[in-house]
Amino acid sequence: MVSEAAAGAILTIDLGAIRENYRRLKARLNGARCAGVLKAGGYGLGAAQVASALAKEGCDIFFVALLGEGIALRNAIGREPDIFVLNGLPPGSEPEALAAGLCPVINSVLQLKAWRQAAGGAGRSLPAAIQVDSGMARLGMAPADVEAVAAEAGAFDGIDIRFVMSHLARADEPLQAANEKQRLEFDRLRKMLPAARASLANSSGIFLGPAYRYDLARPGAALYGVNPTPHAPNPMLPVVRLQAKVAQTRRVGAGTGIGYGHTRQADGPLDLATISLGYGDGWHRRAASAAWFEGARLPFVGRVSMDSIILDISALPAGRLSEGDLVELIGPSQSVDDAAGHAGTIGYEILTSLGARFHRRYIGS
Ligand SMILES: *Cc1c(COP(=O)(O)O)cnc(C)c1O
Repeated sequence: MVSEAAAGAILTIDLGAIRENYRRLKARLNGARCAGVLKAGGYGLGAAQVASALAKEGCDIFFVALLGEGIALRNAIGREPDIFVLNGLPPGSEPEALAAGLCPVINSVLQLKAWRQAAGGAGRSLPAAIQVDSGMARLGMAPADVEAVAAEAGAFDGIDIRFVMSHLARADEPLQAANEKQRLEFDRLRKMLPAARASLANSSGIFLGPAYRYDLARPGAALYGVNPTPHAPNPMLPVVRLQAKVAQTRRVGAGTGIGYGHTRQADGPLDLATISLGYGDGWHRRAASAAWFEGARLPFVGRVSMDSIILDISALPAGRLSEGDLVELIGPSQSVDDAAGHAGTIGYEILTSLGARFHRRYIGS
């Protein structure tokens, strides 16, 4: 990783805040278990670092999306915690999953058969979660598939069903009837399957009420400080701070074209600062936005470049900002959700887009 002195931008990740967020979610679960979802490298914040922070809170179940993520996480955190692979196993990869001690989330009849065969080959039962599609049409066995395997003798031979699970499409919209509909469909489908523990809620699902708790919740975003209740104040602590260094400052005169395409021309004298962060760091070019310095809002001027963004710093006293100073892109003045709002996206995408060029500083561990 690039040193703090050499980096153009610094990403600070507060592992203590992640632990506090885990405790806050756990407190809402009335004794049900709480996993940690670490897909896409712990939502861009570092799966291994987040996993070890959560392990200190007693979290011993993790979810990743892909087998490759699971193998990397297993190598980083050791044999103990259960690691589930949400997207299931690509055909033929079962031996790799077995070798790494990973649990597939079985999403299809084909995957069920492949894991049953792997168990036969291994001569012992193998753990897995079974996912049913309760109304999202993304991953999981369709109702007809559930009925078919439920009617098939020996369909689950050799499979240790740790959880039957499903995923909510609209959990962040608490008034949506779709949530209740999915919950009832989940209950209908899982009752056809061998009795097992159940898991439905993601971050927002935890806030839908006791009926959504079941035996295991699977929060991701809320652990990382994204608001799981977008229509109410954020009950989670912020986790991420992103600061970019000022590379250069200048004053331009009226009529000066600014940035690629001269999409902005100065109306009069204008104080500018160029910062070392751009779309190459995951700050999307389409994102109209601003940086912050000591409580002052510094709007972007002109286009976002690959490695730099030009800021209007007229709000600051002349000479206040110098080369090497840090301006804030994410932090106390602008949350992940604020940044997402400006970019027309969601906090999840802001986090998982955070680039590889930052100096990463972990605090609170
Ligand atoms: C991503 C994901 C989660 C976590 O969702 P958040 O909204 O980030 O809490 C849980 N379950 C499944 C199946 C997922 O794909």
